[in-house]
Amino acid sequence: MRGEASVLHLDLDAFFAAVEQRDKPSLRGKPVVVGGIGLRGVVATASYEARAYGIRSAMPASEARRRCPHAAFLAGRHDLYREASAVVMDILRALSPAVEPLSLDEAFVDLRAAPEPVDLSTAGLTDLVDTLRSAVFTGTGGLTASVGVGTSKFIAKIASELAKPDGARVVAPGSEVALIAPLPVSVIPGVGPVTAEKLHRIGLDRVADLKQVGPDELRQLVGFTHAAELARLAQSEDDRPVVAERETKSISVEDTFEVDVVDATRLGEVLDGHARQVAARLRAAHLFARTVTIKVRQHDFVTHTRARTLLGATNRPELISEVARSLLAGTDTTAGVRLLGVGVAGLTGILQENLFDSPAPVDADVDAPVDVTATPAGHPQPDHSEPPKLHRGRWPWRPGADVRHEEHGPGWVWGAGLGRVTVRFETRDTPPGPVRTFRADDPRLTARYAP
Ligand SMILES: [Mg+2]
Repeated sequence: MRGEASVLHLDLDAFFAAVEQRDKPSLRGKPVVVGGIGLRGVVATASYEARAYGIRSAMPASEARRRCPHAAFLAGRHDLYREASAVVMDILRALSPAVEPLSLDEAFVDLRAAPEPVDLSTAGLTDLVDTLRSAVFTGTGGLTASVGVGTSKFIAKIASELAKPDGARVVAPGSEVALIAPLPVSVIPGVGPVTAEKLHRIGLDRVADLKQVGPDELRQLVGFTHAAELARLAQSEDDRPVVAERETKSISVEDTFEVDVVDATRLGEVLDGHARQVAARLRAAHLFARTVTIKVRQHDFVTHTRARTLLGATNRPELISEVARSLLAGTDTTAGVRLLGVGVAGLTGILQENLFDSPAPVDADVDAPVDVTATPAGHPQPDHSEPPKLHRGRWPWRPGADVRHEEHGPGWVWGAGLGRVTVRFETRDTPPGPVRTFRADDPRLTARYAP
């Protein structure tokens, strides 16, 4: 535990649902559930309006629908969530380079690591947090964050939780124990339902109650390691450091050959293999690349690096390979190659593939799950007997997805099924818009990745 309140915790409020309400004016102030699509889905995020019906994260979709049938159930637009998250993380990194993201919508910041000394008085921190929360609101186009500041990660996180939604709380040094004493034991990290139940059975419900038991009794109850940690945290003693996560700036794969390679076909195959590995790592990191590079070391150890920046960003192995091959074609390899590598840079969380970058017609992400069972906002139930393969290649017809109609402009999928798709024509910057229904194969309707 530090002598000063220099650990900050920021958590965006009902993040996925808030992004949907930001971009879909007709859903503002309404129950919105992201996830919970399909029959076996679970809820990813519920808007505060949906939480009023008892809907919670990780609840089965069926139960969420039973509790609030008129909520909008949306598939989620993870590219947009990553984009908003990147804006917020950048704002935090401007505050201090020591930012430890816990998820897309949550991070710790170590204010001690700020380049300029921060005024860590309660008044100074209150100003800093106000400025931070309005920067997040403006930078993301209207998302709210709750922020807590304290002498440790434990206290900062509890403070932001107590401030939710759209609030802030600075916990002055020395007031930690009083803050946590009345809270349920489950606020202590590591106290899950099982431990909480064990403690409850002997009458320990609040953090303050833990003082009633001696260390031996606590050890018998929750185990040796856990007991020590629990006792420390109950006294708000927490020294866990904020560990900055280094941002992935590039990904590359290279191979040194035992014997210099001259055969152009073989070199092409090596590039293909490297491109597949790079693409797999991009996909695993949920990233897309704007720049493709190759590294070629000649027999005489002269090393060339060549790069091409695409018009868009991709994670497709065929495209990365195609660009790598064309870069290699512009390099003299006739005397033999000792080392060959493929890399990508200019990484982004957003797919911005440009058709002009494509060597072949784009096979739009047909491997994305297709769902025709969801019906947001009380739309008539679709016919589940319809084979989803009718929509293969038209996966954007997932509830909540962004689309554009030649005549009516940008909108989002309100519901789909029975060979039809219903679109609400509105965007972040318009008032709530009208709903129209089209044939699912209407050629005037196309997918839209960004607003
Ligand atoms: Mg959150």
